Amino acid sequence: MELDSLYQEVILDHYKRPQNKSLASNPTIQVHHVNTSCGDEVTLNLHFKGERVENITWDAVGCSISQASHSVMSELLKGKSAEEALSLVEEFQRMLQSKGSDLGNEEHLQDGVAFAGVSKFPARVKCALLGWMAFKDALQQSITKAN
Ligand code: ZN
Repeated sequence: MELDSLYQEVILDHYKRPQNKSLASNPTIQVHHVNTSCGDEVTLNLHFKGERVENITWDAVGCSISQASHSVMSELLKGKSAEEALSLVEEFQRMLQSKGSDLGNEEHLQDGVAFAGVSKFPARVKCALLGWMAFKDALQQSITKAN
C-alpha cells in the first residue's frame, strides 16, 4: 500500500514509540478486541472518572497500522469528556469509511489524520479502527457502570 510519505512517517513514529502502551492497574473497564482478518489483538484499560476519560492504556499484538492507531487514539482521547471522546471516535470512523473522500479535520483528529489514506485500502480499515472501537466499547460500559 502507498500512503503519503509524511503520513507514513507519523504512523511509523507512533509504531516505534507507542504512547500509553503499558496497562495501568485498576481500570474502570478492561476490554479485549480482536481483528480476525489481520490477527490484530488489543487489550485496553480505561480509567473513567467524573464523566471524563482519565486514562487510556493498552497492550497489543498486530500490524504496524493497528498499533500506531492505538497509540494515536490513546493520546488524542485521554483527558476528554465522554461526549468529546465519542464524537472524535465517530469522526475518525467516518474518515476511515470514506474510501478516501474524507481527509479528516487535523484540528480535531491531530495525528489521526495520518490514517486518512488507509481508507482507500478496505482490508486495512479494520486494523486502523480496532483500538477506537475497543475504546468506544469500554467507554459505553464505563458509562453504564457509573449510572
Ligand atoms: Zn492489522
